[in-house]
Amino acid sequence: MHAYAETPDAATAIRGAGLRVTDSRRAVFDALGSRPHASAEDVYRVVAPVLEHPSLQSVYNALGDFADAGLVRRIEPAGRPQLFELRVGDNHHHLVCTECGAVVDVDCVVGEAPCLSPSDAAGFTVHEAEVTFWGTCADCAASAA
Ligand SMILES: [Zn+2]
Ligand SMILES: [Zn+2]
Repeated sequence: MHAYAETPDAATAIRGAGLRVTDSRRAVFDALGSRPHASAEDVYRVVAPVLEHPSLQSVYNALGDFADAGLVRRIEPAGRPQLFELRVGDNHHHLVCTECGAVVDVDCVVGEAPCLSPSDAAGFTVHEAEVTFWGTCADCAASAA
């Protein structure tokens, strides 16, 4: 038996995405619920104590399956590990701290996706815009002062 208690939400969401529900996938989903913008290694640290046979590879696999199924969003700040979050489909953006790597959501404030238009769309019909604002978070700015 597993020490891990089933969370109906995770199982429902995973099944709803057309994926088979496994202990590992449930644990990964729950980990992202409590820790948005987590890397695969962050998720692994959360799920390892509650899984019978934890493996970093199975966490990567679960995250990849979730991303492909549209269940999680994968964000890829340049030069950083990929990060994953459950908040999908709302075209939100991110603030990333160049000092500590903190990631904060920025709601799209100007209406429907893509919310930003390129100066020249080169004939593309743009569906989505993904903006990363790089800067120094309040904590890092305070400790530098
Ligand atoms: Zn910072
Ligand atoms: Zn986000």
